[in-house]
Amino acid sequence: MSKPQAFYKGYWMVTNRCNLNCSYCVLEDAPFQLKAELNLEAKKELVSHLYEKLGFRRLTLSGGEVIIFGSHPPFDFIEFLQHIKKFKSSNPEDNLEIELYTNGTYLKENVAEAMKGVVDTIAVTIDGVQNDFLSQLGRNHKRHNNYFQNISEVCKILTKNNIELKLHSVVCSKNYKTLPDELSYILNSLEEAGAEISYWKFFQYMSYDDADKDNAHKISADDYRIFKERTQEILGDRKPKLHFKDNKEMNDSLFNILSYGNAQYMRDGDTWTTSKRTEDLRTYSSMQDLFARHDINQDRFRQFHEIHR
Ligand code: SF4
Repeated sequence: MSKPQAFYKGYWMVTNRCNLNCSYCVLEDAPFQLKAELNLEAKKELVSHLYEKLGFRRLTLSGGEVIIFGSHPPFDFIEFLQHIKKFKSSNPEDNLEIELYTNGTYLKENVAEAMKGVVDTIAVTIDGVQNDFLSQLGRNHKRHNNYFQNISEVCKILTKNNIELKLHSVVCSKNYKTLPDELSYILNSLEEAGAEISYWKFFQYMSYDDADKDNAHKISADDYRIFKERTQEILGDRKPKLHFKDNKEMNDSLFNILSYGNAQYMRDGDTWTTSKRTEDLRTYSSMQDLFARHDINQDRFRQFHEIHR
């Protein structure tokens, strides 16, 4: 197998399926969308193709809720991990690093065990701690209540299994005033429960060109800046590294591999609605082929997605 000339990292929304109902979420898991999704075998083929032909050496697996894709959660996911394991190596050039975003609802001991040696890092989302707020937001949904307590348990399990742990928070109009007052409590609670958090990333709510959603969640650049300054004051001396991902960085870096196997990308001036789509990524023989067939801004793609080792 000839080696790709450069190495990349990518964000893959492996499934649209989700068991929660966050009010700011762009994904819909309508039956026709789930039907169009790559099945397990096709997902495995895509991993192999991304690794062997397109040079991907780091994948962030997201959803939806990736642990519950397929018809027998979490068993399809566990089989998927076993396939990915073929691309793990002690040689950094050959190793496929895996990061995974999860809402934690299905992350029990058996799943953590299957992740060992395959998943390097896990990010869980915490937007607040109060159950009223979490219910209003849709993070407490149906039988999944007490989201924060559950995530604390999940963090404990992951640390015990030596999986690096990150926190994510979506900063929107519903929590930008309250979240700063909860940051220390969140971190103290997780650390007291035995979890070690290496990183905490704060995403500015991003517009999906849905007026109702945007009106209910958007925050101005100024409010986000004030939130950032308060957060830096509160967490500046704590262990997790902080990253504030504003709308500009989100748009500039956007290259989402979708659950259908194609990828979504943005050109200058695009919005969520006008963003473009590639074909199924398995149909490109190399990244050069991908760049030749689409008006992807290569410099920007390399800035955010090329891996320098
Ligand atoms: S857990 Fe994630 S995918 Fe599921 S509804 Fe919430 S934001 Fe969307």
